[in-house]
Amino acid sequence: MMLRYIYTVQQFIVHRKILQQYATDPQLQSPTILDIAPQQLYAAGIRTMVIDFDGVLTAHAMPVPDPMVEQWLAACVACFGREQVFILSNNPIKARQEYFAADKNRAQLFISRRKKPFPDSLHAISQQCGRNPSEIMVIDDRLATGILAAIIAGTKAIFITRPCVNFAAHPVREGFFMTLRKIEQFLCKC
Ligand SMILES: [Mg+2]
Repeated sequence: MMLRYIYTVQQFIVHRKILQQYATDPQLQSPTILDIAPQQLYAAGIRTMVIDFDGVLTAHAMPVPDPMVEQWLAACVACFGREQVFILSNNPIKARQEYFAADKNRAQLFISRRKKPFPDSLHAISQQCGRNPSEIMVIDDRLATGILAAIIAGTKAIFITRPCVNFAAHPVREGFFMTLRKIEQFLCKC
């Protein structure tokens, strides 16, 4: 865990300028995942999707995606094919594993060897799918985890700027992650 923090800080400094672009350039952002059109990404040459869970598919610690997002994921799977749509979470709890395994038309939950921002999982997905990193799109709401991993691995990425939150269910946890997101955005603009 300590190693991951050291690696994050070191890589954050190295890639600060690119992270700053993700924090400021609307072309590299989307308010929510529902604002992204899978067909447009496919038309632009994207062949594999790697999507974060917490904050992107639903609020923190929820076991399954929001119903609207579930529909979006089904459309994404229809567009790219199931074997090309991965959910990459630093918190792949059992309930989430069971949800994605329960229906073979759902996206695949990728179990990472090392957590983001280590690029290991993106390298593994790239190899498994036989894709060039430039054909892979990462969607994440955290600069210091998913977006940083995408930059290190050389994939494309979209930064989610209006993450799903549920302060009523988990006030402390949501407050903690909201603060982290703000600190990340502040730091890369320094
Ligand atoms: Mg997230």
